[in-house]
Amino acid sequence: MHKQLLSINRRKVMLSAVAGVSGLALGRAFDAPVQAQSAAMSVSNAGNYHFRVGDIKATVVSDGTIGGPPRIYASDAPELELSEALRQAFLPSDYLTLNLNTLLIETGGRRILLEAGAGQTMGLHGGKIFANLTALGLRPDDIDVIVVSHTHPDHVGNLRAADGSKAFPRATVFAPRADWDFFVRGEPDLSYMPVPEDFRRRFGAAIKRSVEPIAKDVELYEAGTEIVPGLTTLVAGGHTPGMATFLVHSGDAQLLLTADLAYHPVVNIDNAWLPGPDRDKETAQAARQRIFDRAASERMLVLGFHYPFPGLGRMLKLYHAYAWVPAQWQV
Ligand SMILES: [Zn+2]
Repeated sequence: MHKQLLSINRRKVMLSAVAGVSGLALGRAFDAPVQAQSAAMSVSNAGNYHFRVGDIKATVVSDGTIGGPPRIYASDAPELELSEALRQAFLPSDYLTLNLNTLLIETGGRRILLEAGAGQTMGLHGGKIFANLTALGLRPDDIDVIVVSHTHPDHVGNLRAADGSKAFPRATVFAPRADWDFFVRGEPDLSYMPVPEDFRRRFGAAIKRSVEPIAKDVELYEAGTEIVPGLTTLVAGGHTPGMATFLVHSGDAQLLLTADLAYHPVVNIDNAWLPGPDRDKETAQAARQRIFDRAASERMLVLGFHYPFPGLGRMLKLYHAYAWVPAQWQV
């Protein structure tokens, strides 16, 4: 027994010594599972994507992903059509992954974040924004302004640090007034959401908890107003009472952000099914139609907060529908 232990320890020491010389050689020669495991821990795909909107420097900064049963995001889809649409898109039938594509824009000497991201308010795969900012050489106190489209937890979750303080200490946070009144000042009835009662309770509590550190100095805005030159908010209520979408513009260049008008192109654009979490489905549908029509007719570059990373593409108008056309990747 003792002898066996000793030999295992000796082997460990030898492996460590080899690893010191060449970790790769260690993996290949001795222990493939260890290699796979350490690769998964130390390597991940890019969480940042750079592009420009005229003179404005823009970067999609991923906060990771959330997700759930596809039915939640396609509330009126016939069962067979939904599973067939997912199958044709090579997506699993039991879980739809949603990205969290926050956008950093640099304009007028300010760094502005559009959406704060989920943190871990809706699962363990969120909260990656801080590592991705670090990869850009930025710290949370380099962010001057944060504008959220609405106050659902996946858009405000990162505002609170683990110790309860402001996660972005210098940032002025802008939130739509109607959402603030409904979700933060009020005791909202969330029975319209197609999720279990305890999920609704946690959802409501996560909003209040997330915004608590910034509540005393939040700037409340009306959708339709300009936040800073080059960043306009557009009226898009229905998903929540105050949801806005964003237009980033510089010269002739425009970028339209669709916030949560659609969750995933396969179920809300290529197939126009209604997101279950829309509070007022008719108003949300009217906003979707109006804003998608504009995006299609003006051939605008579009960023979807929840679309597959980096979430950039265009709306193609078909006879009675739209199709999502992802943008070409820029190296
Ligand atoms: Zn969302």
